[in-house]
Amino acid sequence: ASIPKPYNEPMLNYEVGSVQRKLLKEACAKLRNETIEIPCIVGGEEIKTGDVQKQLICSDNKKVLCTFHQANAEVLQKAIDNSLAAKSKWEALPFEDRAAIFLKTADLLNTKYRYEILAATMLGQGKTVWQAEIDAAAETIDFLRFNPKYAEEIYSQQPPANTNGCWNRVEYRPLEGYVVAISPFNFTAIGANLPSSPALMGNVVLWKPASTAILSNYIVFKAFREAGLPDGVIQFLPGSGRLVGDILINNRNFAGLHFTGSTGVFNGIYQKTAANLSAGLYRGYPRIVGETGGKDFHFLHNSGEVDHFVFNTLRASFEYQGQKCSACSRAYIPASLWPTIKEKLVSNVKEMKQGQSDDFSVFVSAVIDKNSFNNIKSYIDHAKASADAEIIVGGGCDDSVGWFVEPTIIVAKDPHYKSMEEEIFGPVLTIYVYEDSKFEETLRLCDTTSPYALTGSIFAKCRYAVQTANQILKSAAGNFYINDKCTGAVVGQQPFGGARASGTNDKAGASLNLLRWVSARTIKENF
Ligand code: NAD
Repeated sequence: ASIPKPYNEPMLNYEVGSVQRKLLKEACAKLRNETIEIPCIVGGEEIKTGDVQKQLICSDNKKVLCTFHQANAEVLQKAIDNSLAAKSKWEALPFEDRAAIFLKTADLLNTKYRYEILAATMLGQGKTVWQAEIDAAAETIDFLRFNPKYAEEIYSQQPPANTNGCWNRVEYRPLEGYVVAISPFNFTAIGANLPSSPALMGNVVLWKPASTAILSNYIVFKAFREAGLPDGVIQFLPGSGRLVGDILINNRNFAGLHFTGSTGVFNGIYQKTAANLSAGLYRGYPRIVGETGGKDFHFLHNSGEVDHFVFNTLRASFEYQGQKCSACSRAYIPASLWPTIKEKLVSNVKEMKQGQSDDFSVFVSAVIDKNSFNNIKSYIDHAKASADAEIIVGGGCDDSVGWFVEPTIIVAKDPHYKSMEEEIFGPVLTIYVYEDSKFEETLRLCDTTSPYALTGSIFAKCRYAVQTANQILKSAAGNFYINDKCTGAVVGQQPFGGARASGTNDKAGASLNLLRWVSARTIKENF
């Protein structure tokens, strides 16, 4: 059997007067007028624990989008037991049947659920229509279409040689135990990918979605089930990260973690697994896959095209309010070009329309929640008070209606200024202006300034400059772009992930990632 050739889902444009725009507006209005109650789902059973939390609309934060029941210790234990009971039947199912379920999920999300999942992502995660389309439609569907193809490649990899009278083969078994998937708020697509990729490889998965992305993730889960995912293969477990993490990870049957989120949380889980391992809790070495934070950069050489750089930097820094792990949050600009660039950046930022995420004319909306608002504001306040930094545009924060932070640009006099080094995860770009003659020296600075290494871009026409940057920044980014913005990796085109404090670099959207969810057994048979 062969998996259908995957293709990237084309994006719809929702132009004025289009049917798509009308349907999406209706879907948004419907979600604004109802409050869905979301249970935990274990073995297909809906469980309401009574420990209820709310997901709010980011840009209209007095309004509740949905409520959800948080998993407690009893539900988590039940989920573990139920998964282990479902495991042998699931792993015995032929790969084609498993793949068909996820391919069908892609279809359902593309048709029946397309507007609902977009509306949930727009209102619940604060995405504008275009940002939601990129994520909840295109990327989500792409993961589900491309992963089966990558899995097929893995299963077909066999030793190329056999000596006479014997047959060597490799069997790609699922892991022994269960996999825990813990997903972040900022991409519905990651919510879909984290549990489905280990499940595709025959594993049972306990999935904890982010509390600020519950509704969109629940729609993904509904689509999995409707596509034929057997009960117990993926459990849907909203709840407190710490509790879910502790119970699911402190268990002998924990075999792998598929995590995306902040570096701090991942480090905590990593330490926990290391301690459990040395205490002899686990059967083997759990597979720990984590895609974590970033302090992603745009580096301009004085041969670069100014307008191209400005346009891409504005998009990479401020689309989705800078809340992409790949968002550009620091830039290095040569002094000779700075006056022109400064004027263009400032005038463009002043024109950015900010507002409700379901207002189809806005470019930026609100940030995800109160904690995030307060955290971003603290960096802006620091810059306002610091002699080492100057805010050249933006700086306003207002949470009276939604968690609104204006797109903000800080110019740092010190290349090691706080916001040049630390991930803020908001619409804040920090710029360091360097002397043109110090190009190489500044590249070295860029390489060593932050602990992260997720994405980065060089903008230059001069090929020597491109090559120098490519060499010096070899370890500074898992995804490196030449004359393009550092956001927008496409499944099937640019495998995504970073190293250093940005994660284990097991590239999402590639066979490398799926390889982590199997444990190979070599079989030699003599005739
Ligand atoms: P987060 O770390 O706050 O939360 C991620 C998930 O971990 C959530 O489901 C959360 O509930 C859970 N969690 C929190 N504490 C936990 C604990 N003690 N034990 C177990 N689970 C726990 O991250 P976020 O705010 O949802 O997402 C933003 C972060 O994610 C940023 O740092 C961003 O760079 C990163 N991110 C990285 C990538 C990537 O591919 N590298 C992609 C998207 C987001």
